Formats: sequence, C-alpha cells, structure tokens
Amino acid sequence: MADDPPLRIETPAGLRAWSEAARCDGLRVGLVPTMCALHAGHVSLVRRARQECDRTAVSIFVNPLQFTLGEDFERYPRQLDADLAVLRAEGVDVAYLPSVEVMYPPGATTRVCVGELDDVLEGACRPGHFEGVATVVLKLFEAGRPHRAYFGQKDAQQAALVTRLARDLDTGVEVVVCPTIREPDGLALSSRNAYLHGDERRAALCLVGALRAAADLYATGERDPSPLRAAMRRVLAAEPLARVDYAEVVDEETFRPPGSLAVLAVRIGATRLIDNHRLGDPL
Ligand code: AMP
Repeated sequence: MADDPPLRIETPAGLRAWSEAARCDGLRVGLVPTMCALHAGHVSLVRRARQECDRTAVSIFVNPLQFTLGEDFERYPRQLDADLAVLRAEGVDVAYLPSVEVMYPPGATTRVCVGELDDVLEGACRPGHFEGVATVVLKLFEAGRPHRAYFGQKDAQQAALVTRLARDLDTGVEVVVCPTIREPDGLALSSRNAYLHGDERRAALCLVGALRAAADLYATGERDPSPLRAAMRRVLAAEPLARVDYAEVVDEETFRPPGSLAVLAVRIGATRLIDNHRLGDPL
C-alpha cells in the first residue's frame, strides 16, 4: 500500500524537487491545496487540474494557523487513508503531506499580511484566519512551484484573497477558481457537514434557501443591497437552529457593498457553515 500511487512527499524540499523535475521535462504542474476529509467538491478541483495540467499534486494539511482560538482544529475530521484512496482513484501524481512541525518549525514566525480583505466578513469574524491561509498558500506555492493552483468558489473570500496574493507577490501562479459543488438538495459540500446531526442537516438548508431568496429578488430587477440582504435574513430568521454571523451582498473583489455576490456565514448548532452565490447565475 505504501508504494501505491500517489507518490507521498512530506517536505517542501521533496515537493520542490519533484516539481522542478517535471518542469525540466516541459510538463505543466497543477496544485490543489486541501485540508483533508476529501469530498466531491475537492474532487472537482482535482479533475480540473488533471484536465489542464500534465502533473497534479494535492496537498493535505490541516493548517493550525488558520484556525482561531476555540475553533475546531483538534476535532477537524482527519481521514488520511480514505483521502489517499480518493487521490489514487483520481490518478493524482503526488500527495503532499507535511507535518505541522515541518511546515512551522520552531522560530518560523514570518506571516503574510493580506490587507483590506482581512477587515470584512470572514476576516472580521475570524481574526488571524486569512493571515494563516495566506501564509500556508504562499508556502505551498513556493514549495510546489505550480503553473496553476485550484481553489473553490465555495470559499469565495479565500479565493479572492489567494488570487490577489498570487498577483501581488509575483508568484507566477495562475489561480483557477472552480464552481461550488452542492448536494442534490442544494447544501454546499463541506468537510464540516460531517458535524451536522439530526435536525441540523435539514436546518442547514437555510443557507441555500437564503441565497435562493436573494437570487429570486435579484431576478425581478432588484439591485439595492439592502432589500437583497433583508430577503436572506428573513429566510435565516425563520430557522430556529440558525444563528447568523453575516448575510450580505457585496462586490466579489472587495467584499464590500455594493455588488452582486451574496455571501453568508451561519451557525447551525455548534457548526459554522459558509456559502455564497453570484446573483444572476443559475443556482
Ligand atoms: P478545504 O479542505 O475545506 O480547505 O478545501 C480545499 C479546497 O476545496 C478549497 O479551495 C475549497 O474552496 C474547495 N472546496 C471546498 N468545498 C467545496 C465545494 N463544495 N465545491 C467546490 N470546491 C470546494
């Protein structure tokens, strides 16, 4: 089993050597960063990478820097064997599996500061989260030297931030943002859906319900963020298990109003879920 594909690499130097060998052969390298507990959303990124690149590496690393105090870092659903089986079935070339000690050895205190996207919505709710994301993504880009890196629209603010980081820091990496994959009933796939128990799974549909309400109003010609936001909040207020962190309609680069990206973060019991939708697109 240990010798089965994908090739497992555990150090930045190992990943860089693999990537540089591929580049020397004229091959295009794709990178898909993940935390673990792979689902069809992750697989959609992997398939896109496999279509567009000659070699694909998937990183699996639960990044402690992007969890704020009191969040679920310890209990995040790790399942390495199942994840490796997914990567094998998808024909992935490399699984990059650094330990926390390898990624952040003692004294590694440098952080990537992300600027204004850190002040709003996810950034404001989760202080330090995006600094942690930006730091790990830059490290993955440096070690993996990919031509392209694949991220999900599901985490819209993260995707915007990574797109900006890649450009601002001259990484030479082309960031590709892939559509959100949903369950048949509309719930966006997320590793955290595993935390939803009993009635919470049904209650979680209020997220996509709120996005649909905003989309329906937008389709009537409404463009003012305030009634669009109110339509989302009405749906969320009707769900007794839901507590709203934010529900807004914002610009998809600045994450400030006005705009046409509906974004929301909602707690269902102890589980915090996020979702978003570009108003005007099919949902
Ligand atoms: P995570 O393991 O949650 O950090 O996610 C790794 C990557 O998969 C990120 O770029 C996410 O945006 C993306 N992703 C997560 N859920 C979905 C989904 N439902 N559809 C598409 N991409 C997703």
